[in-house]
Amino acid sequence: MIEFQKVSKQYSGKSMALSDITLSIPKGELFFLSGPSGAGKSTLLKMIAALERPSAGILTVNGQDIGRIKPSGLPYLRRNLGLIFQQQRLLSDRNVLTNVMLPLIVVGTAKSDAEKRARAALDKVGLLDKALFAPLSLSGGEQQRVAIARAIVNKPQVILADEPTANLDRASATKVLDALKSFHGVGATCIISTHDEQILAGAQRVIYLNQGKLAASESAAFGERGN
Ligand code: ADP
Ligand code: ADP
Repeated sequence: MIEFQKVSKQYSGKSMALSDITLSIPKGELFFLSGPSGAGKSTLLKMIAALERPSAGILTVNGQDIGRIKPSGLPYLRRNLGLIFQQQRLLSDRNVLTNVMLPLIVVGTAKSDAEKRARAALDKVGLLDKALFAPLSLSGGEQQRVAIARAIVNKPQVILADEPTANLDRASATKVLDALKSFHGVGATCIISTHDEQILAGAQRVIYLNQGKLAASESAAFGERGN
């Protein structure tokens, strides 16, 4: 469902952020993405969301060629993606519930239906009781779980999370990760970048990047190990 064929990415005037990545991520898998800062993890996730384009090679997501996708194709692609990026902040002047309803409202869902689904999404991340709170009154971990609820409220086929547990204490990180895993459990493909050794220790499928290259990955084991 997500296929990198000899994909490279070079930002203008810079060395390769990613080079010659060949990787296939089947539907419904949970993959972790690891490697030192600057290894290319964010770039890899951004390309799947067509926030960046490959400089060379072919990347297909749900059959769409990211290098050739037209602006008119982006809404369709993104509707099937749940993005949890650190730069995407919650709207501080709207309550938690409204933040989670927004992705539904922008695609024209009726308000009552959007509210019902947003409440269900908040329930899944354990924050239904905070629905009417202001985002900034929540802890960092709770805000991250609101961001997850917002990312999954559309029931996307693919969830991309860029260091979703960075800066969280252990208990919060575990809750955030459990929330993400529960969506994998109902069939979504999840790709989660992390530096967290404890999370990686329990992971079954890990893609390691180093200086833009696929490093000694566990790719040989893909498909062989169960969950
Ligand atoms: P990671 O997420 O593993 O820290 P990134 O994908 O953010 O790695 O970065 C990979 C490399 O690409 C780094 O050298 C970084 O400085 C560079 N890079 C990332 N984004 C940009 C950009 N928008 N413009 C120029 N260089 C970038
Ligand atoms: P992270 O470490 O969380 O992956 P960064 O702090 O490296 O993110 O990057 C923040 C933003 O700046 C990202 O959108 C990234 O693409 C961009 N960026 C990263 N490195 C560079 C760079 N060398 N030049 C321009 N933009 C960059």
